Amino acid sequence: MTIRIPLSAPDITDAEIDAVTAVLRTDRLSLGPELDAFERAVAAYHSIPDAVAVSSGTAGLHLALLALGVGEGQEVIVPSFAFVAVANAVLQVRATPVFVDIDPVTLNLDPALVEEAITPRTRAILVVHTFGVPAEMVRLQEIARRHNLALIEDACEAIGAEYDSRKAGSFGDLAVLGFYPNKQITTGEGGCVLVRNGELADRLRSLRNQGRLSKRRDAAQEMEGDPAASWFEHAEIGYNYRLSELAAALGRVQLDRVDEILAMRRAAAERYQSLLETISDLELPPLALPRRSISWFVYVVRLTGGGPGSPIDSGFRDRVQVQLAGRGVATGRYFAPIHQQPAWCGRPSSVAAKVPITETIARRTLALPFFNRITLAQQEEVAATLSLTMQECKR
Ligand SMILES: *Cc1c(COP(=O)(O)O)cnc(C)c1O
Repeated sequence: MTIRIPLSAPDITDAEIDAVTAVLRTDRLSLGPELDAFERAVAAYHSIPDAVAVSSGTAGLHLALLALGVGEGQEVIVPSFAFVAVANAVLQVRATPVFVDIDPVTLNLDPALVEEAITPRTRAILVVHTFGVPAEMVRLQEIARRHNLALIEDACEAIGAEYDSRKAGSFGDLAVLGFYPNKQITTGEGGCVLVRNGELADRLRSLRNQGRLSKRRDAAQEMEGDPAASWFEHAEIGYNYRLSELAAALGRVQLDRVDEILAMRRAAAERYQSLLETISDLELPPLALPRRSISWFVYVVRLTGGGPGSPIDSGFRDRVQVQLAGRGVATGRYFAPIHQQPAWCGRPSSVAAKVPITETIARRTLALPFFNRITLAQQEEVAATLSLTMQECKR
């Protein structure tokens, strides 16, 4: 079973290769000028005062919760229709995730249900911009303000997306970006925390660097070996969540190309729309939504057919997925609900989860091959193979 059309693929040009190679010719491989420049570029792109680059999106979520002081005895509202790291990060700071259901169109946290889930223990809302579709940020900001809650944006899937012409990631107290190779832009591994408050930025930089005090952004690179600096002094328990100079250099070039990349992905989504719209029992993602500009992360369809009983089990979707793989087309199950993950089953948060929309939709979703340079021929093959496979699986 060879996969001929992958689910995702990074898009690395000579410019990225040159930038990484140039770093390798220097003697500064960590905490140097590339990190500084990448952070400034990410902050400027989002019109936010500062950005703290980290080793993954997951590390960013962890640090965001720590820096805001979220901890034991507190609840954080999260979606279950999301990547598992969203809930894991809450658990890692010993707080309790409270799973809230989603809007069936945008697949993002439903603000009305968020408000219902607030208790005296609620400390924060961690909202995910699912698949690059911005969440209801104006309403969520208003709810957070009224209940005195922190608002954290997980924008790992949504770089460049906009709500009311404002970038996803520029609404919350903190926001997290992710640069794993399947994201719109990549650093190999990496992430970034967007931050508007200088004290929080200092705290994030300290926590990512083993609790070392590096107040100024450019202080870190000079600390090692400087007897006056505090490289061997750790003010608090921190982590090694640093992003290397190589990764930062890669990210800088990718970010330079982000508009071009998002345009390629939008064009690919539009091509899928015209190739797939005639297939029955298939629901396509909306190409446009009010007040929003979508940053296309993945292209996720919903399989609505499959015979009697199909809406309540994932059997039809699962059969289609296996058959497609047999025909060389990779697909993904975005997302298996977090509260139903083996690692989460039976935990109090999962037992308490009442998320019927999440459970129904998750049984039918299928992410199709989707990357910057997917060709029309590849998309035609995906469409034809999907159509044929769905008909066979229905019989
Ligand atoms: C990709 C992603 C992350 C971060 O993933 P890492 O692999 O740790 O970089 C976090 N949240 C969501 C919703 C994601 O899609």
